[in-house]
Amino acid sequence: MTPKAVQFVSLGPGDPELITLQSLHAKHSADCIFFPVTLCREGGWLSRSADILRQLHIPEEAIRPFLLPMQKERTAAWSAYEEVYGQVRQLYEAGRRVCVVAEGDAGLYSSIHYVLERLQADGIPVLQLAGVPAFVASGARAALHLVSQEERLVVCPGNATADELERFTADAYTVVVMKLPQCADEVKRFLAASPCVDVHYFEHTGMADECYLTDPYRICERPFPYFSLLIVKSQNRN
Ligand code: SAH
Repeated sequence: MTPKAVQFVSLGPGDPELITLQSLHAKHSADCIFFPVTLCREGGWLSRSADILRQLHIPEEAIRPFLLPMQKERTAAWSAYEEVYGQVRQLYEAGRRVCVVAEGDAGLYSSIHYVLERLQADGIPVLQLAGVPAFVASGARAALHLVSQEERLVVCPGNATADELERFTADAYTVVVMKLPQCADEVKRFLAASPCVDVHYFEHTGMADECYLTDPYRICERPFPYFSLLIVKSQNRN
């Protein structure tokens, strides 16, 4: 019997307790679970998804790591996703229950969505299971009220500029900046020019090595690893 759909399962930001019951059940009943791994400089494998899956006691025989090149130039990554698409499609058509995992929420800056769209275009049913995004988990970690009353939230990826951060915060937006290594110079320029801003920096939220800072000077000293983000609160509080 053909399974109902290929499931795109959100893992949450790293703390295994932040996975939804829906996603957990999907994984426990899957025959194959695809997740990305990257090569580290020392030659070993690195995978945040694998760490989460291990902590959730997912059976080893179900897990299917795929190598995801992390260069800024994305051609190699797209061909890795194309390969995953081919395998997922084949397994689904052979009647296997397939899950593809995404860190955080699968609908937020998650390039694995490309595989979902390829399958959809082929008429293969897909299900996307919601998850806790890293910026929501980070806000909770610091007991922040991200937006209140009339305030607005804007989420920027790694192409954020110092000028727009200044503009957004002056306009009473709460700003989330993700993919910090790609815009480290701009973010640090913004912080240097706005030392009184209400800023919250998060690194590896929900993990053993997490770091939370609010002092702009100390934030500027950090090298900004891949799993880091910034929340800047509006300057015009109600
Ligand atoms: N789908 C994810 C976002 C993927 S983009 C989500 O819903 O959160 C990758 C970016 O997410 C990283 O560069 C970083 O800015 C942020 N991120 C993901 N996990 C994180 C964590 N545990 N702590 C801090 N930032 C994290």
